Amino acid sequence: MLSYQHGYHAGNFADVHKHLIVTWILESLNAKSKPWSYLETHAGCAFYDLSDEQALKTGEFQEGVAKLWGAKKVPAELTGYMSLIKNANANNNLAFYPGSPAIAKALSRDADRLAIMELHPGEVRKLKAYFYQDENVAVHQRDGYEGVLALLPPKPNRGLVLIDPSYEVKTEYQQVAKKVVQMHKRWPNGSFAIWYPLLSAELHKEMKAVIVKSGIRRIYCSELWVKPEAVGGMFGSGMLLVNPPWQIDEKIQSVTPWLRQLLGHVCAKEPLSEWLVPE
Ligand code: SAM
Repeated sequence: MLSYQHGYHAGNFADVHKHLIVTWILESLNAKSKPWSYLETHAGCAFYDLSDEQALKTGEFQEGVAKLWGAKKVPAELTGYMSLIKNANANNNLAFYPGSPAIAKALSRDADRLAIMELHPGEVRKLKAYFYQDENVAVHQRDGYEGVLALLPPKPNRGLVLIDPSYEVKTEYQQVAKKVVQMHKRWPNGSFAIWYPLLSAELHKEMKAVIVKSGIRRIYCSELWVKPEAVGGMFGSGMLLVNPPWQIDEKIQSVTPWLRQLLGHVCAKEPLSEWLVPE
């Protein structure tokens, strides 16, 4: 089933939360000259036109990146992420939004490598056009879990796997937990970032519990609420980080309260930022 298309949601509050953390992880990897690998299970189409039919139909970006774009003062920790958005928009007008593959590419250096999985034929076509003749990026039209597992451990042997499914089917939460444990076995020194929605069904709790009980060390959790639970639908965004780079926790703790203030409803809960499993 491939009905989900990220164009309806690109640049929403969850993308801001997810992409800011992905940016920080890749910036940390860039602090050393050693090259890195970036693998992604669910890529989407890499680059989004915020004036197209999909974006305008939901207008979700208005509650996410547009608020950030219009903010008078932005914390210094957001400088890198804001530059990526500014670079995607030539004249001071917010018209485009870079998805996670475009963000990873923009932060990569000559020796870094990207392997990107996507199943939707239309999204794959756009990905292949975006990365046309780019020797550092491999676009695979295949199941993201199997595709990434087959490439682990990657060369270069430091880096990040982003797991960002649409969770259209309830069983996906369990599938993610199982696959993360398998991926970590194959690449114990890799970093893994798993995005999940905060919904009243709370299926993410079981997913987190399985990963936490698996024996994997260094698991950090960031959850950002933007609406009160009672309004229904997705009221927040979660990122589970396995083996994240040093000091990401401090950045998350200092910036998510500001993000909640900017993007969230006055009745939304305070952000959660905690180590679920330490060293
Ligand atoms: N990661 C992207 C970003 O942040 O810019 C957004 C990805 S979107 C949430 C999820 C994508 O996963 C959709 O484009 C969908 O077509 C794709 N997809 C769904 N099932 C998949 C699977 N089993 N393997 C690979 N891609 C899949």
